[in-house]
Amino acid sequence: MSCDYLALAAAGVQKLHPYVPGKPVDELERELGLSNIVKLASNENPLGLSDSVKQAIQAEFDEGCRYPDGNGFVLKQALVNKFGVELDQITLGNGSNDVLELIARAFLSRESEVIFSQHAFAVYPIVTQAVGAKAVVTPAKNWGHDLDAMAEAITAATRLIFIANPNNPTGTWLSETQLRAFLDKVPATVLVVLDEAYTEYVDEAEFPNGVELLSDYSNLIVTRTFSKAYGLASLRVGYGLSNPQVADLLNRVRQPFNVNSFALAAAAAVLEDSDYLARSVEVNRLGMAQLEQGFKALGLEYIPSVGNFISLDLGRPAGPIYQSLLERGVIVRPVANYEMPNHLRISIGLETENQALLDALVQVLKS
Ligand SMILES: *Cc1c(COP(=O)(O)O)cnc(C)c1O
Repeated sequence: MSCDYLALAAAGVQKLHPYVPGKPVDELERELGLSNIVKLASNENPLGLSDSVKQAIQAEFDEGCRYPDGNGFVLKQALVNKFGVELDQITLGNGSNDVLELIARAFLSRESEVIFSQHAFAVYPIVTQAVGAKAVVTPAKNWGHDLDAMAEAITAATRLIFIANPNNPTGTWLSETQLRAFLDKVPATVLVVLDEAYTEYVDEAEFPNGVELLSDYSNLIVTRTFSKAYGLASLRVGYGLSNPQVADLLNRVRQPFNVNSFALAAAAAVLEDSDYLARSVEVNRLGMAQLEQGFKALGLEYIPSVGNFISLDLGRPAGPIYQSLLERGVIVRPVANYEMPNHLRISIGLETENQALLDALVQVLKS
């Protein structure tokens, strides 16, 4: 090469480690010549697309040659109806990851500091570093966010704080009391992103609803997604809710057609499909109990989780166990990149998939 392009890249990008996705089923099939592969690696919805979604997508086919509605009016109106927010509080994203990136691009510079917790979602460091801002990582407490440590880390340079509730990959959660006490301490000049990607699964009386906090905290941005409980991971659609001025700024940096028409239609349809959501939550509740029981029977420790995944503590480096599970056609997620080298994160699947994981685990731990 005539030139070192690494040296030409922006300083933050030079040090960036790309996001490592779960291994795709097709890839493992090709590598091992296996069929019947079980993927419990990316917190996807095991129910498949809802029929209401398939119909909504089909209805868009004829207009597929046209640009989508860049304002996403129909979906935004559905969100307004469902959550009682105003249209101008909404930012639609190509997945909620897109919204996280829009926030970083709109508000961060090389002088900014961004606070997030150890073991928090891997996209926070990526969007922070990509714009050259400084990541301030506070140590976790019992695997969860230590909000006192996060509040103490605020300096004059702090522009943004990321909080995942519940957090991925630990499944830990913050109560409304904890969260409000924290938000009360954060200056209005510091934006707080409350990432609620798994909120639909949580059934805890003390669990906060970010949407209800918006009126009390002008610096709050709530992000949610259609990728998990609504089962649209491949379609890429999520949203941010915030005060209208913040939403306006996010929409200024947004690509004009960042959400495609199939995703827009699918999301609007599934938002009204309360039956699908109820089934998602129920299958998850039963699957979580099944896995917890299975782990206990094997004498394995885990971090109690309110999401659609659970992190299993193997008490030793998990890499070889991950590999052995792969060889048996079960894909789970190593989380060494989250400073959790002894854990594997396992997404909750259908009953048969959960059982396949437990069976494979018994075999692997025996050998
Ligand atoms: C899965 C996940 C998201 C959602 O990602 P999408 O881009 O909407 O698919 C956001 N935050 C966390 C913590 C997640 O685990």
